[in-house]
Amino acid sequence: MTPFKVNEVFLSLQGEGSRAGRPCLFIRLTGCPLRCTYCDTSYAFFEGTMRTQEDLLEEVHRRIGPPQRGPNAPFVELTGGEPLAHPQAPALLQALLDEGYEVALETAGSHDLAPVPPSVVKIVDRKTPGSGQVHRWLESNLDHLVPGQDELKFVLTDEADYAWALDWCRARELWDRLDILFSPVWGRLDARWLAERIIADRVPVRFQLQLHKLVWDPDQRGV
Ligand code: SF4
Repeated sequence: MTPFKVNEVFLSLQGEGSRAGRPCLFIRLTGCPLRCTYCDTSYAFFEGTMRTQEDLLEEVHRRIGPPQRGPNAPFVELTGGEPLAHPQAPALLQALLDEGYEVALETAGSHDLAPVPPSVVKIVDRKTPGSGQVHRWLESNLDHLVPGQDELKFVLTDEADYAWALDWCRARELWDRLDILFSPVWGRLDARWLAERIIADRVPVRFQLQLHKLVWDPDQRGV
């Protein structure tokens, strides 16, 4: 199999979503065809070293040990960049599942989710107008999200993004179907404003902050 260009592999705590706070081994692949206005991982656009799938599986074993069970057990997340820009990514996800790990994928939703094994936890970022990448979206990806397992995330830059995200979800009647996350762009949209709007508007979404940016320096890599 073609090797992967890997930007970094690091053990940290999941900073977002319903698994926030859990130990997680992140495999960050190099490269992304998008250019979001607020990107905090532009260092992953080009930097990286070539690694084989076998090499990555060996590192997963070495860093977190054999698969564990339980709601707070360590899991593995494939992230980027845009991991699905690597055509061989679904095979790596399947290999991790075959080893018995709980596996998550963080993706922008711009690439087809059909080849991704259904039991991979998919955290899909629906880009908003404020990201500058709202057009990078495959509508058919909604059909591949598993209710109760996968998450659809909106990272909001301003009030207009908030209104846009509400309209977009309403038009598709997503509230009852999927776990929906709203979070502010760090340093750009006031978190308290967003929290209070969600409460006042009685919007059935989950508010979230990027925990790792509160715990560590917001610009620190590998956390
Ligand atoms: S999709 Fe993610 S990695 Fe790619 S430009 Fe946007 S924020 Fe950065």
